[in-house]
Amino acid sequence: MKLDRVGIIGGGASGMLSASFATGDVTLLEKNEKLGKKIYITGKGRCNVTNNCALYEFLPNIVNGEKFMMSSLSAFPPPALMEFLAENGVRTKTERGNRVFPVSDKSSDIISALSSAVNKNGCKVCLNTEVTSVKKIDNEFIVTTNNGDFIFDKLIIATGGNSYKATGSTGDGYTIAKNFGHTVTPILPALSAIDLMDDVKSLEGLSLKNVSVTFKVGNKTISRFGEMLFTDKGVSGPIILTLSSLINKYNLKGEKLTIDFKPALAPETLDARLSGDFVEFHNKDLTNVLAGLLPKAIIPYVLAQSRVNGHKKANSITKEERFALGFTIKNLSFKIRSIADPNHAIITSGGVSLKEINPKTMESKIIKGLYFVGEVLDVDALTGGFNLQCAFATGKAAGIATGSI
Ligand SMILES: Cc1cc2nc3c(=O)[nH]c(=O)nc-3n(C[C@H](O)[C@H](O)[C@H](O)COP(=O)(O)OP(=O)(O)OC[C@H]3O[C@@H](n4cnc5c(N)ncnc54)[C@H](O)[C@@H]3O)c2cc1C
Repeated sequence: MKLDRVGIIGGGASGMLSASFATGDVTLLEKNEKLGKKIYITGKGRCNVTNNCALYEFLPNIVNGEKFMMSSLSAFPPPALMEFLAENGVRTKTERGNRVFPVSDKSSDIISALSSAVNKNGCKVCLNTEVTSVKKIDNEFIVTTNNGDFIFDKLIIATGGNSYKATGSTGDGYTIAKNFGHTVTPILPALSAIDLMDDVKSLEGLSLKNVSVTFKVGNKTISRFGEMLFTDKGVSGPIILTLSSLINKYNLKGEKLTIDFKPALAPETLDARLSGDFVEFHNKDLTNVLAGLLPKAIIPYVLAQSRVNGHKKANSITKEERFALGFTIKNLSFKIRSIADPNHAIITSGGVSLKEINPKTMESKIIKGLYFVGEVLDVDALTGGFNLQCAFATGKAAGIATGSI
């Protein structure tokens, strides 16, 4: 019996999983000189490969595509991935927040395990092979590359998103999808730093813990509590990355982002604290008194927004000025310019419309034998290993599906 010729475009996280499970005469086409270039830089070189939690805890971390992902994640949940990695020579460990890393803390070990699984499945790997166009004539896919044409019966698109282009993900899959009549939802940076209109150069490197950041647009309010930091042009860090994914569909220019430096204190409690400090340090300049409450670098911003002179002695601060200071400490506001440079977003949100894809098999509902997996799909999740797990689960689903008639 003639084997189906299965082509996979993209040797990243999702493509390698497809290549490990596909059945038939399987060929993986990767434009880079090696597989898994993006995996190498994940988790700051340690690769947060998945999140070891139950499905009901996993799903709320998917920003877009929660329902779509249920089927493939149920078939290939985090423990199954960890077992698969172990079978291919890599032991993993679970850290804070259920984040899973290789025991070695080396992302290269994850790439080795995936490459070994691809080889075990007998998949041919063509490196330095860039796909430039794809057509379907009768029942065959004609895939044109810089290394000549390939002909396949089934084709899996695993080309990734549109950020960190140097790793190979240059958005080619979106063009392929559109050429086949698929809808591609707007491509936006997600899990990204946010640039501000305010000059925050003097705050660069300032890292804050236990703060709450709120974004308001119209009557919608989105807040997150935790850690953040200032960059030369704006803000970044865990809660900002999360917020960026939650707000990237809004028109952000000029919208307000506010920081509450004392989220654990009710306004009256903070006012009592300020009052007490002003009595205790009555002869000190306001700036110096505030240094007991706030990071030094942020004080000029608090003073400017509350319109209080920092050189005033604490005992001459009026009640109105104290209220203004308390309000600003809980609501220091900045104007958003945009989500930072899309190329430096950790992932891309938007992609091939999920309505047009079978969630069990990842097969296109428009073109028989065509599959989309990984970040090229309109699926994006928060940090914590969720994005790689989605790539692996969709990749495996399509790989398995190539074996069915
Ligand atoms: C800095 C950074 C850190 C991250 N850290 C984590 C983390 O710790 N945990 C986590 O869960 N997620 C993390 N992510 C996200 C995660 O890496 C991606 O979600 C995941 O790699 C997506 O897998 P993919 O297979 O869809 O795409 P990719 O891994 O990007 O693979 C796509 C592949 O397709 C190839 N390709 C593209 N076009 C063509 C073409 N025309 N011809 C041939 N080949 C082509 C590319 O060269 C590439 O190898 C991180 C991302 C970044 C940028």
